[in-house]
Amino acid sequence: MMGMTASVVLEPVAAITGRVFNLQRCSVHDGPGIRTTVFLKGCPLRCTWCHNPESISPKMEKMFTPGKCIGCLACIDACPENALTMTADRGVVTDFEACTMCGRCADVCPTGAMEMVAEMTDVQAVVDAVLEERVIIEQSGGGVTFSGGEPLMHHRFLIEALDACRAEGFHCTVDTSGFAPKEILMAVATRTDHWLYDLKSMDAETHLKWTGVRNELILENRCHVLRHKLTDTTIVAVSIANSQQGMSRPHVTRYRIFHHATESVVEADNLHGSVV
Ligand code: SF4
Ligand code: SF4
Repeated sequence: MMGMTASVVLEPVAAITGRVFNLQRCSVHDGPGIRTTVFLKGCPLRCTWCHNPESISPKMEKMFTPGKCIGCLACIDACPENALTMTADRGVVTDFEACTMCGRCADVCPTGAMEMVAEMTDVQAVVDAVLEERVIIEQSGGGVTFSGGEPLMHHRFLIEALDACRAEGFHCTVDTSGFAPKEILMAVATRTDHWLYDLKSMDAETHLKWTGVRNELILENRCHVLRHKLTDTTIVAVSIANSQQGMSRPHVTRYRIFHHATESVVEADNLHGSVV
């Protein structure tokens, strides 16, 4: 991913959809106030402690949970591609060569045994969801946060969604690893009120070991973000401890250490404070 380039060419709004794997209302950990957080599927990092492994692949995926299946066969009847088979030992099995990820099987499943991991969502649907929370968002000094996955991976959708949310007067936060081309970062910065910018390790080799990528681009981008005075920035430092050879996962603690608006350390709160 290092050295990747990308130009910011916007598509017509109608053509843009995002893979939203969760839309969380009343979030209090993703920026100031009470917020609606939009989680976008797809991330270029491979952090060993990732809480949401289903968010890593940018592709559409679906899941089957045998324990929830009541064997009604509704999914099989609904599939236009005949991609599903009921088996004695594994329940409903999908032929992924035939499956187009249309989602109809999940739509008709009465128990949630068949689920799409994400939904193709257009910008207006995101705005409509945020508008439903307008009163509580405004009274709390909150807004909308785009997270992931890595939201900068979906920059076209992200830019349109930021523009649409800001047009409605919402404060917008982007929660990012900073691993993206500078052009994309700055195009998003001009539309963002607040960054939550994760720094996972200052050491390139440690960063590579635990996240799958080196950190030079992330550190460079951090400087660009901090120089961009229009955008408030909170650096969230992820402390990677106990990362001796042989451990499959490090001890991870997140600290909010730097707030651009005051150019000072304003918090050192342990955001999670647990081994994950
Ligand atoms: S997602 Fe669509 S094509 Fe794939 S198994 Fe379900 S109904 Fe069939
Ligand atoms: S629709 Fe759901 S409950 Fe019914 S057979 Fe398919 S997966 Fe099982």
